[in-house]
Amino acid sequence: MPLLSRKPPWERAPQSVKPPLENARREQPGQIPSGGAGGRQTGRSPSGSRLGLLASCANPGCASGWLHLLRSRSTPVFEGGWSCSAACTRTLVQTAVLRELDGRGGEQESHRHRIPLGLTMLQQGWITAVQLRQALASQKSAGAGRLGHWLVRQQGISEQLVTRALGLQWNCPVLPMEFHDAEALTSLLPRLFVDAFRAMPSRVAGGRLLYLGFEDRLDPALALAVERMTGLRVESGLVRGSLFHPAHTRMLNAKFPPVELIEAVSEPVLAQAISRRIEKARPVESRLVRAHDCLWLRMWLRTQSGPLPETDGVRDLICSIGAR
Ligand SMILES: [Zn+2]
Repeated sequence: MPLLSRKPPWERAPQSVKPPLENARREQPGQIPSGGAGGRQTGRSPSGSRLGLLASCANPGCASGWLHLLRSRSTPVFEGGWSCSAACTRTLVQTAVLRELDGRGGEQESHRHRIPLGLTMLQQGWITAVQLRQALASQKSAGAGRLGHWLVRQQGISEQLVTRALGLQWNCPVLPMEFHDAEALTSLLPRLFVDAFRAMPSRVAGGRLLYLGFEDRLDPALALAVERMTGLRVESGLVRGSLFHPAHTRMLNAKFPPVELIEAVSEPVLAQAISRRIEKARPVESRLVRAHDCLWLRMWLRTQSGPLPETDGVRDLICSIGAR
């Protein structure tokens, strides 16, 4: 199902037709933002380092030559590269849209070869063959519910043990949630992703490592998107269901950065829509990454001071991708 058709109610407003960034802050002329030409993603958080006055347009095909030096614009910056005009922004965005969409279909379902949960638990001696057989039979006759659910509800196996087994199966840590500060972590990814992909930032360690929690299966594609966007290294882990649900609900109720959702009929239309937003907001940095069937544009309206973006310092644009 296309993700955008599952919009939660608070995001169901017709935002795609509303001019989104009226209050966007503009940088002062002459202030050169961070990053260099070439449009590469640096993997770092947007920082305040500046180019010299002879910054060149990041669009390799830019035709304005040295004339752009006379233009009094230091923003927008897209993927670390400054663009001298709306036309150059559009070119840079078009290239990025194609780059992201070309990667589609390359996501391998790496869990296919995992040892089944029941077998893992049996091998560990955490369940008996009888318990496994009964849970599998119940799962089959009910036609619903994960095996772990049946082991807990019907066979009295502890939820903690099931999550540990899932951790073994996925070769990932089980994340603790004791000190989870949901409100402090909402700036890391859009609410729509937290909701639809059932992912939850659980902690940032040392300002560089983000623990991303999931309930019963990891989402490597989403983890990669978050890593590319935030510049933080992402370590995915599992969270026990009884801890996941309240924390997830708390997070969904917290304040997130403003987001706009758009659906475009074609790639050129999409690139045009994205570059318009960038031209209007004039961000000091912006990045485009794909998360499953969405493109996620994030714009930093001012230089980020710490490892976490400020909720009101970034704006997100989530674009659905039509069939190619
Ligand atoms: Zn240019």
